[in-house]
Amino acid sequence: MSTDDSDGFSSELLDAVSRCTATIAEGRIVPALRDLREVLSRSQGAATSTERIELLSRFAAMVLAIENSLVEAAAERLKEIEAQVVEMEQRQRLERPNESGVDRVCSFCGKRHDEVVKLFEGPKAVICNECVALCNEILKSEEKKGNTT
Ligand SMILES: [Zn+2]
Repeated sequence: MSTDDSDGFSSELLDAVSRCTATIAEGRIVPALRDLREVLSRSQGAATSTERIELLSRFAAMVLAIENSLVEAAAERLKEIEAQVVEMEQRQRLERPNESGVDRVCSFCGKRHDEVVKLFEGPKAVICNECVALCNEILKSEEKKGNTT
């Protein structure tokens, strides 16, 4: 007599349960359950007694329920992580509005880009709109002086 079906269950199913346990121990739970479910439905097709078919069917349904709840939990966790990443990125942007990470300041008055309307950047120096206005006033007053003398 073959070991298959000798005691109501095929050796393939027994092997599958052992394999599933080993794979779960490795932490790969969902693939383990999928494999087991596949073997369960195959065994169900080959089973001869109604009691055995019913048992295999319920067992497969239970495995599927575990599988689905794990997948749902993982999807929820992923959503949580994604939300945390978005929040972290927003906070970083608020703390440091300058994307390049270089602290741009006016080379003349030392004001930061967020303290003035505009910073004009040259290759070696930066000037703010306020310093440009001040320079213009100085130029104008010097022109006037030149005109009067
Ligand atoms: Zn300035």
